[in-house]
Amino acid sequence: MSDSLERTLEQRLSAARDSGRWRRTRVLDGPQRPEQIIDGYHMVAFCSNDYLGLAADPAVVAAAREALDYYGVGAGAAHLINGHTRAHEELEQALAHFTGRERVLVFSTGYMANLALMQALVGRHDTVFEDRLNHASLIDAVRLSGARSQRYRHAEPQHLRERLNKAPATGHRMIVTDGVFSMDGDIAPLPELAALAREFDAWLMVDDAHGLSVLGDTGGGSCQHFGLGSGEVPVLMGTLGKGFGTAGAFVAGSERLIETLIQTARPYIYTTAMPAALAAATLASVRIAEAAGERREHLQHLLRRLGEGLDRLGLPHPPPVTPIQPVTLGTAARASAVAERLFKAGFLVPAIRPPTVPEGEARLRITLSAAHTEAQVDALLRALEHALGTTTA
Ligand code: PMP
Repeated sequence: MSDSLERTLEQRLSAARDSGRWRRTRVLDGPQRPEQIIDGYHMVAFCSNDYLGLAADPAVVAAAREALDYYGVGAGAAHLINGHTRAHEELEQALAHFTGRERVLVFSTGYMANLALMQALVGRHDTVFEDRLNHASLIDAVRLSGARSQRYRHAEPQHLRERLNKAPATGHRMIVTDGVFSMDGDIAPLPELAALAREFDAWLMVDDAHGLSVLGDTGGGSCQHFGLGSGEVPVLMGTLGKGFGTAGAFVAGSERLIETLIQTARPYIYTTAMPAALAAATLASVRIAEAAGERREHLQHLLRRLGEGLDRLGLPHPPPVTPIQPVTLGTAARASAVAERLFKAGFLVPAIRPPTVPEGEARLRITLSAAHTEAQVDALLRALEHALGTTTA
């Protein structure tokens, strides 16, 4: 064992500990659902991204089980070798229909889908315009692509316009944004971004990890919310581990976009396909999500209730339309103290601290699911009132 390695690691770990940025995993026993056992405690969780309550849905589980019997567990190879089963093929077709796009390509994770997209579409002669609060996987993907990065102020099309005006005339331009911002819960101003993309001949890419299945009449996400189609948003990325309740991700777009990814995207070519049973389970969940009007309505009802409660407590929050409702508390210490009190009261609401969010904007990230009940939301609000009243940190 190298002494210098261990010493260096210890210094870094101490720095993380001392700055209140220590992260640790909690252990969940049983399925992902609001009432759960975590670290041995019975809790009501308000932190999962399982927005429609599909992660443990009996029909989704049954589809996985049936496919496990048929396909076994591992895919055994990359898609382009012999890991691409009929289950993957059917899932891609169902997602193309779901998103109203020509074709879809499935990936093992959203992180990889974003890496694949950027690598395939832009390089060092191109410029990517990124919302400052884009998800880490997008930021990393742009960095790895070698393209020039221009960050514009969060959800400010006017600032994006300034950036576009000043950008070099050479190379391609691409505008990249979360559809629903993962830590802030607001929806990107997509109509304005689409108009700028048209005006400046830029390509618009939306990562709708938190919008798909939740927003829009048939769960078509933030694009459907604004009535935008493939003409305005030619590059759409979605994840499967959130509203769809399983795991993995996809890119939806034109035949040429998908074929380009297949031919050139290293995170697609050089990785094992997701297990076929997962693809089959996701196919079941996509079908449920498409017709899940009642789940979406219940979720919206709970969001309004939460929003009214937060208003009564004088806590600012985004418009209660998306299931991500952060409550900004300021310092990391304060957010951690409130989260700890909620935990003791039986509610799991994580404190999101720097560097995930900017300094001074530590927050509780409350997320709701269609699987929550009104009573659970009311109980959370009471516990929150208590936790805030008794916290002086
Ligand atoms: N994009 C966004 C906006 C996300 O929130 C996430 C997951 N937190 C990802 C991409 C990455 O997706 P995955 O978890 O499937 O890697």
